Amino acid sequence: MPHEIAPRSGVAFTMAAGQRLTVIDPMGEQVADLLAFSRSDVGEVISSGRTLDYASKIYLTTGDKLYSNRSNVMLDIVVDEVGRHDFLLTPCSRDTFRIIYGDKDPHQGCFGNLAGALAPHGVSEDMIPTAFNIFMNVPVDGETGELRVEPPLSKAGDRIVFEAKMDLIIGLTACSALQSNNGRFKPIHWQVD
Ligand SMILES: [Zn+2]
Repeated sequence: MPHEIAPRSGVAFTMAAGQRLTVIDPMGEQVADLLAFSRSDVGEVISSGRTLDYASKIYLTTGDKLYSNRSNVMLDIVVDEVGRHDFLLTPCSRDTFRIIYGDKDPHQGCFGNLAGALAPHGVSEDMIPTAFNIFMNVPVDGETGELRVEPPLSKAGDRIVFEAKMDLIIGLTACSALQSNNGRFKPIHWQVD
């Protein structure tokens, strides 16, 4: 049975090289932010900039690799039933909700949830980079570069599977931002095999 991440929360766990992480959207239209750190040195971390540079595209799917800041492959995408994820935007945070939504008493968001879950592994807030935002749908205007956050394309039960290429610490959330999840906060399921 997969583990469940409650709505607007997050977890951290470890994986060994060769293991597979399956992330499932059980109800549909729910984003999960993914972070990866090397277990042997948490200074090595998933890198949007390096990954998009080497992929020469911004939408990653089956067959694509997620690189670290040291240009090592951390994760391979081996199954992708949705085909639309974001790797441009940072985890939603108190500041996201204050600046974009105008919230007076903002939720800590994926950023706070990731920081809390990863703190026991030696990861501090300033070490948290842009996450791989599973199922997040951010179309980009090819001329102007304008971004829009649209409802995820994931339907109930859709999944993505990653294979670890090194021993990893993973941070994973059920995203807390209304806009990213079509206005409803739902759980995320995951398992490591
Ligand atoms: Zn979020």
